[in-house]
Amino acid sequence: MKLYKTEGIILKKTNFGEADLILTVLTKDIGKISILAKGARRPQSRFGGRLELFLWVRLLLVVSRSGLDIISEVTVLRYFRKIRDNLTKTGLAFYLAELVDKFLPPKEENYKVFKLLVKIFSLINQREVSFVLIHYFEIRLVELLGFKPEFRYCIGCSKLLQKESCYFSFEGGIVCCKCQNKVSRKVKISSSTLKFLRVLECDDLNLILKLKLPPAILYEASKILINYLEFITERRLKSKKFLKSLKLVEKPKQIKDN
Ligand SMILES: [Zn+2]
Repeated sequence: MKLYKTEGIILKKTNFGEADLILTVLTKDIGKISILAKGARRPQSRFGGRLELFLWVRLLLVVSRSGLDIISEVTVLRYFRKIRDNLTKTGLAFYLAELVDKFLPPKEENYKVFKLLVKIFSLINQREVSFVLIHYFEIRLVELLGFKPEFRYCIGCSKLLQKESCYFSFEGGIVCCKCQNKVSRKVKISSSTLKFLRVLECDDLNLILKLKLPPAILYEASKILINYLEFITERRLKSKKFLKSLKLVEKPKQIKDN
């Protein structure tokens, strides 16, 4: 029996079989993994309440031939209790966990994303609910995964855009009025919302946490960021399908030597 240890945050729970659970965990050292908790849905389960969503846990896992490794032992390292006690905070954590789950491929180590998720969970846990924090997370996540949109220069003509009116294109950033016809998916963006997105981009958390923004700006920023995130995940899935349809990555046939 081959065992290994890891630690991570529980992102998702799915019922499996009669009494088992499949957990999706973002680990510190081996990326996003799916693991099996046998008998975890039984009332007398030996795991108790240690397999709840958003817990930071240490795991001892048994390697399984099926590919779905099995939990042998679990210890809670951090509960983030206030996230679990407050419905709005729980809702936000659900959203963040879903984003991480959607964006990250399985078993690809990404310590920076793990660190980011722990940081945001800690802040949501300690502080009042704030959407600013959620947008900070969204921007950092896409940045870490190489999808950060451009908020300063027009993606059509590279001109630095100051206060002139412009659009946000889901193809990757802002466009000036002259270039907006070149892009298909775009929305108008106000200069105040653009200013806010530029502040988020600076990664100065102390400054970001002090921001007091009118709801209109937060609403516009939310709409833009959510649509952008959906656009990238969709594009990514489509490209995967497309590549598969080309059958470029087929298992090579054995070459015979004459
Ligand atoms: Zn332009």
